[in-house]
Amino acid sequence: MASKLKSLGIEVQTNVGGTGVIGLLKGGKKGKVVGLRADMDALPVTEGVDVPFKSKNVGVMHACGHDTHVAMLLGAAMLLAKHKDNLAGSVKFLFQPAEEHGGRGGAKPMIEDGAMQNPKVDYVFGLHIAGDHPSRTFALRGGALMAAPDSFTITILGKGGHGSEPDKTIDPIFVSAQVITALQAIKSRMLEQTKPLVVSVCSIHSGSKDNIIPDDAVLQGTIRTLDEKIRTKAKKYVASVTKSVCMAFGAKCKVEFMEDAYPVTYNNEKVAGKTFKILREIKGTRTIKTEPIMGGEDFSRFLQKAPGVFYFLGTYNKEKGCIAPNHSSKFKVDEDVLKYGAVSLAKLAMEFGAS
Ligand SMILES: [Zn+2]
Ligand SMILES: [Zn+2]
Repeated sequence: MASKLKSLGIEVQTNVGGTGVIGLLKGGKKGKVVGLRADMDALPVTEGVDVPFKSKNVGVMHACGHDTHVAMLLGAAMLLAKHKDNLAGSVKFLFQPAEEHGGRGGAKPMIEDGAMQNPKVDYVFGLHIAGDHPSRTFALRGGALMAAPDSFTITILGKGGHGSEPDKTIDPIFVSAQVITALQAIKSRMLEQTKPLVVSVCSIHSGSKDNIIPDDAVLQGTIRTLDEKIRTKAKKYVASVTKSVCMAFGAKCKVEFMEDAYPVTYNNEKVAGKTFKILREIKGTRTIKTEPIMGGEDFSRFLQKAPGVFYFLGTYNKEKGCIAPNHSSKFKVDEDVLKYGAVSLAKLAMEFGAS
């Protein structure tokens, strides 16, 4: 990738925030600095589709299509390098690792390593391939597009004993059941009904045998929000509801949230408006306004540093057998859409560079 960029006459910086790579292309005219980001990482999934470009590593596959993000950004780099005399400003190509990592992720260390400075990025764009939109369809919206994903771990500390004598114990499994049920009241009874919120307990570990009440139970789950104020409140309520329920039954608890969780992916309204217009000019594609989704994305961190847009390019195509969603072992991209993705990134760089 770095050598491909160099061969196009693009300045390259490697090992940015770990294994990140940055390319800088200076245009022939004065203008703004536009950042274009592609994440590069794969997922721990064994590829279930037999294609010539299938993963060579068993148990690891590009189930989220980040390989296509790299291909499309390199395509955009080739287009822009060819037309650099007409390019106003500069384009920064941000190849980012570890998007799927959660928590610290890959965007944060790249930003800490100066990715958005020298030259300072004025606008930033990120493109994601999407199995749930039809092929050749761009999908975006102004405002909140993706959720902040806050993982939590709840440890409930009871007092174990014989299964036949629950009165002599503090049963952490019983208390867990009350906590799981009570947490749903945050969405249904405690927060504004017009604000999206998901609270899911996704794992519960406790106990070893049918007639032993265990000492403790560990629950893990996730909170998804599209608004930073609701996010703060929801986290506070998860902690307070858990503590109150535990206290009611004499149990102790510890509530921990994952540090450095990704923020809400927030598209600048003005930039989104202009992006709609630019994408709609690309022949052979259509552009739609989409609803927000409750998945998380660390492109949100770049959007905290510069106004910009994260948008999707659909790849659902029944005739070509591209029907599985992202993260599925059967995920297969309609390769014919990649050229449109590359053109869209190049066009955004040209137009926003000259703005
Ligand atoms: Zn993913
Ligand atoms: Zn992804």
